[in-house]
Amino acid sequence: MALTITNLSKTYPNGTQALRGVNLTIPTGMFGLLGPNGAGKSSLMRTIATLQDADTGSILLDDLDVLRDKEAVRRVLGYLPQEFGVYPKVSAEELLDHFATLKGIASGRERKEMVAALLHQTNLYDVRKKYVGGYSGGMKQRFGIAQALLGNPRLIIVDEPTAGLDPAERNRFHNLLSEIGEDRVVILSTHIVSDVSDLCRHMAIINKGEVLLTGDPLQVMQALRGRVWRKLIEKAELPALQASEQVISSRLFAGKTVVHVLADAAPDSGFEAVSPDLEDVYFSEIKNSELPVR
Ligand code: ADP
Repeated sequence: MALTITNLSKTYPNGTQALRGVNLTIPTGMFGLLGPNGAGKSSLMRTIATLQDADTGSILLDDLDVLRDKEAVRRVLGYLPQEFGVYPKVSAEELLDHFATLKGIASGRERKEMVAALLHQTNLYDVRKKYVGGYSGGMKQRFGIAQALLGNPRLIIVDEPTAGLDPAERNRFHNLLSEIGEDRVVILSTHIVSDVSDLCRHMAIINKGEVLLTGDPLQVMQALRGRVWRKLIEKAELPALQASEQVISSRLFAGKTVVHVLADAAPDSGFEAVSPDLEDVYFSEIKNSELPVR
């Protein structure tokens, strides 16, 4: 099974070009769509989820035409949107049962079994009688996954699921996601690099509506080997370095500034070689895409 996106473009009525000729092939397993805010991730996710139309292009789930055959797609789709509105005075168990009815699962017994299994899987069984409105951020997101899994969908889309979660909740959520991505297409849209490096075997980086890079996280990191250099500098030295070198990232560490620079050789003897991580790949791609066109 694969999702094939070809030449997908979308311009909103106000003139914002959110997607510009997007081409992507997404195989089964967990796929990370990584990009900064405003990159076009949600626009792409909503289009795949049949919630909005594109101007041009096509999306195929195997031979199912996603943009035309929306009803058929909805039957095999699980979607956790960025903003998941939940009804405050309804228990998780009741709400899931209601969503299962909406999904067309008519048998009460079947629904009961499915709801109980999902509540166990998402570790919410003990709090199933509590109102979802009173859940913590992490519990709400796990509930969101439970509803996305109703009906055993082949295609699952999760849009920015870990934003706002604390580290323990994020970890728990990662474990849950890693269990569901075995034999279906799961697209995880995020601006958090470690979501992708922790979970995804395939990925794409997008910015300003364009795909900048696709591949396997290990391979794309490998491609930068021998070209990433690190130095500890004073903050005041940064502007000069940025003017002379391709600075990928800079962050504070113990009151000093750690810079990563992309170069074929060490810019000076103060630099040491580092083995590239996905942040290096991400920041170098994003910076590169934001350079003025020459
Ligand atoms: P991301 O999910 O990566 O943050 P979005 O797809 O939400 O990106 O947004 C991509 C661009 O499209 C942004 O410039 C955003 O402001 C714009 N945009 C998103 N939705 C709409 C809309 N309904 N109408 C007009 N512009 C929009």
